Amino acid sequence: MEEKLELIKSLNTDDSSFILNVYEAFEKNKKLIQEKKKNTKIILRKNLKEDVPIIDLDKIDASKYLYTTMRKRLEAIMNQVKKLDKEEITKEGYTTKVIYEGEIKEVNQSGTDLVEIMKKLPKQKAVFVADKINEESLFKEEQINYALEVLKEKNIEGRYKKIYDIVYEYLMRDFISNNYCDFKNDRCIAQRNKQKYPKQKKDGCCFNGITRCVKLKKNGECSVRCMACRIFSCPYLTKMGVGYWAYEIPLFQAFLTGRQKSYMVARFFKTEETILKKLNSYAKHHKISREQ
Ligand code: SF4
Ligand code: SF4
Repeated sequence: MEEKLELIKSLNTDDSSFILNVYEAFEKNKKLIQEKKKNTKIILRKNLKEDVPIIDLDKIDASKYLYTTMRKRLEAIMNQVKKLDKEEITKEGYTTKVIYEGEIKEVNQSGTDLVEIMKKLPKQKAVFVADKINEESLFKEEQINYALEVLKEKNIEGRYKKIYDIVYEYLMRDFISNNYCDFKNDRCIAQRNKQKYPKQKKDGCCFNGITRCVKLKKNGECSVRCMACRIFSCPYLTKMGVGYWAYEIPLFQAFLTGRQKSYMVARFFKTEETILKKLNSYAKHHKISREQ
């Protein structure tokens, strides 16, 4: 693999850096799983001694939230890299084969949908139990803990703020820090490849219609934490496999109405305060799951 990666690097194209970024993202995820293993509170079934209330993670199905459309597309890219001979790497069309022609594997689903569990968490304290501590069980534990964090907030405003913070931070880690937009001299990968979108020459999609968005800081960060901008990926990146969908984010599915989700993902260039205000105003007719 190391040799293949060196060869891909030597191609020095936008596509080859994209493949390397995808590889790095998977490596980073492996490390994260090791970290989560150290901090998990999951009890292996064989070690469960007391008769205590449990949340049985093996009976929960989280496949559509863990193996998202994007995850399956990027996994297909990694499988192509592993599968293709290193002699093929320098041949024309290698990156196209890797990025666009990998086989997308479907994942079997069984059990109660994770979101249904998050909506109806038991009031009493329960321990997490599973046969194995692996990426799946750790993911379920993490998402249920997020739901508990949300429900700990006493009022609806606090709960929406918590959801916003958790999802925004996740997108910063998974989308922004993995460098899929790959800015070079203020131009993103889509702009360098002369796609119809975005039409402007610099600053990626932070070029707001006719000018650079005033909310963009000099260091390239968004000063207002706009969720729609953060979750958006352009047609160029989506075609390569990078894309986030509200219905694949468990916290959104468990606690937001369709109207709230639509607002979150479609209102660009808004401040976090504006978005949260709107969520709260839509919430008049919607209670956020269990009252504490
Ligand atoms: S999502 Fe925006 S910044 Fe990223 S590559 Fe696409 S147009 Fe560029
Ligand atoms: S609001 Fe959107 S366009 Fe403006 S800086 Fe933030 S992310 Fe960029």
